[in-house]
Amino acid sequence: MKILVCVKRVVDYNVKVRVRADHTDVETNGVKMSMNPFDEIAVEEAIRLKERGLASEIVALSIGPAACAETLRTALAMGADRGILVEMPHSPEPLAVAKLVRAVAEREQPGLIILGKQAIDDDMNATGQMLAALLGWPQGTFASRLEIVESAAKVTREIDGGLETLRLSLPAIITTDLRLNEPRYASLPNIMKARKKPIDTLTPQALDVDVAPRLTLLSVTEPPTRKAGVKVDSVEELVAKLKREAKVI
Ligand code: AMP
Repeated sequence: MKILVCVKRVVDYNVKVRVRADHTDVETNGVKMSMNPFDEIAVEEAIRLKERGLASEIVALSIGPAACAETLRTALAMGADRGILVEMPHSPEPLAVAKLVRAVAEREQPGLIILGKQAIDDDMNATGQMLAALLGWPQGTFASRLEIVESAAKVTREIDGGLETLRLSLPAIITTDLRLNEPRYASLPNIMKARKKPIDTLTPQALDVDVAPRLTLLSVTEPPTRKAGVKVDSVEELVAKLKREAKVI
């Protein structure tokens, strides 16, 4: 079984995000970029399936500017076999990403597509679900455990009331949650080996996908700054403040 894994290049999770002065977006110039953390979990899960003999090939896919090749190299250094870059000036909105992933899936015919549950830059949490709808494949979102049993994916999902387990016939879409696994660090020899692994570059035109935006980003602003808190000396004082000042009790 071939596994297609989607990896998005996003602002590194350790970076304090700054809004551009003209409020058109967040600043990405000169900012450290990395693989979306949920996508690292997706790559790790694919590698574990391959190590258990349940997958034959792992193809990593990234959509966006040429620099996304670095994100693909990270996936290759972790253990993916080859990369596909769909090159365009910016990462498009989820519907266009889903259409591009569908087009690649139609070429590659994977048995499983693993995505992150959300990209930490725009928190859309939509691409996997849209992709499942476009392909008409079953989906297991927010997976915290994945097993392949008798040509089906058994997915455990953390939901409000506890754990839900689904059986999905393959091919299927999985989106990863934080507790699915702990991604490995790429070793130096594997980083060197990854340099030789192939990355194919495609374009939305070559895939015949309309990526015209349906959403317009109107403005990006900082959240309002929170007022400084106060320290109280006793429970009585706290209750009095909640009653008289905050008027919440
Ligand atoms: P989102 O729906 O934007 O929150 O993203 C969910 C998941 O879709 C991400 O964790 C990635 O696995 C995948 N994805 C979104 N945008 C891209 C992109 N530009 N390139 C590759 N994968 C992407």
